[in-house]
Amino acid sequence: MEKIFQSGRIAAATDNRHKITEIMSIMKSFGLDIIPKSETAAAGLEVEETGTTFEENSRLKAEAVMRATGMTAVADDSGLVVDALGGAPGVYSARFSGEGATDEKNNQKLLALMENVPDENRQAKFVSVITLAGPDGQIITARGECPGRIGRTPEGDNGFGYDPLFIPDGYSVTYAQLSAEEKNKISHRAKALEALRRRLLSGTHPAEAEDDIHC
Ligand code: IMP
Repeated sequence: MEKIFQSGRIAAATDNRHKITEIMSIMKSFGLDIIPKSETAAAGLEVEETGTTFEENSRLKAEAVMRATGMTAVADDSGLVVDALGGAPGVYSARFSGEGATDEKNNQKLLALMENVPDENRQAKFVSVITLAGPDGQIITARGECPGRIGRTPEGDNGFGYDPLFIPDGYSVTYAQLSAEEKNKISHRAKALEALRRRLLSGTHPAEAEDDIHC
């Protein structure tokens, strides 16, 4: 395993408990212990997401938490990319409905914008870019994607964010109707973490990630 992981303890560059739970449950199987940001020296640190790509924002968050903690940090930048909306909300997924955005308001806005979009044009994908930043300056990045489509009404109570509106390809139910275990088998985040694991095991870090996972 790479040097970047030798301590086995990694600071998570997020306060989103849903993301932390997903990242923890997947990385536990790699033998790694994820420490929530709130329990590190980076508690309360707000990182401005000034990038225009998932890669840029993921790296900004990982490096900021690595610098504040002196620990290897892991960041996820993720979002929903909707074809009929020209790729929106994309990197703006968390703040789609503006100031004071909530998951519910974001979902309402998405549904309103998609109201007249016919079934055959409702394709979308979730993207997750995971970055590991080591105190020695090492950066490792991996991307995962999960294609699907946007439903017409929110369905299901599990998960978070746009889960009640996203129907992954090959399924007739939303992410929010899947159990955590089922979502963690197919999700964009699970795929990014699996690509990261493979990269760490192989010890190769191509600039253009050949083994990134796109479902
Ligand atoms: P970030 O914290 O800037 O990466 O924003 C991520 C946003 O994308 C979240 O607030 C959600 O709105 C959305 N998102 C990312 N991953 C998921 C997921 O697994 N399910 C539902 N929404 C997600």
